[in-house]
Amino acid sequence: MRTQRDNGVGRPTAPTAHALGAHPGRQLPEKCVALTFDDGPTRYTAALLDILERSHTRATFFLIGPHARRHRADVLREYRDGDAIGDHTVTHPHLTLLPRSRIALQIDSAAQQIAWVTGPRPALFRPPFGASDARVQEVVGTARMAVVMWSPSPQDWKHHGPTSIDRAVLAPVQPGAIILLHDRYATTPPAVPRLIDVLRSRGYHLVTVPELFATSGGLRSGIVYHRGPSP
Ligand SMILES: [Zn+2]
Repeated sequence: MRTQRDNGVGRPTAPTAHALGAHPGRQLPEKCVALTFDDGPTRYTAALLDILERSHTRATFFLIGPHARRHRADVLREYRDGDAIGDHTVTHPHLTLLPRSRIALQIDSAAQQIAWVTGPRPALFRPPFGASDARVQEVVGTARMAVVMWSPSPQDWKHHGPTSIDRAVLAPVQPGAIILLHDRYATTPPAVPRLIDVLRSRGYHLVTVPELFATSGGLRSGIVYHRGPSP
């Protein structure tokens, strides 16, 4: 039986409810960053979840709908561990090139597939390739999700390997950063322990994306976020 990370209670906690409802008036530490992992779950996700569990770290996962169905156990584990879960479409297209109806289908179908596993529909959305425009934002807002981008920083897809991920991800990190990583690369999980250690040694607290915004009124549907509020 897995134990939950960080919150120390014996029942599953929905990440959004935890961030927005369970700690009214809670003050987040000044230096927070959010680790986010896109494109999973994949065969590398279980190892990543082991690492996060060992280091008592919660993260945010943006899931591909069919992957969520295929790797149901990983999604349930993310959910029960208190990680935040977001929508990352069905087939990972450039949404800005699609007609509105297809954009809506990509977002809604993936949300349904995630909800089929977890129960609640996700409240976070990340567009593949960061490709978003006013139409995409409008559809995401109608689906009652916030658009979560990332802060100028990492690029684990360009800098494979622990040392280079380390350098590329860590160099530009600032308080409130939303750090983009991918659990579809074999090279990413091995880089994560050091990433966490270095961030913590610099005084950063690792939180989920909803937690990053918990003291500033929360995330709003259809709004685009690149980083957390300034401390
Ligand atoms: Zn992606």
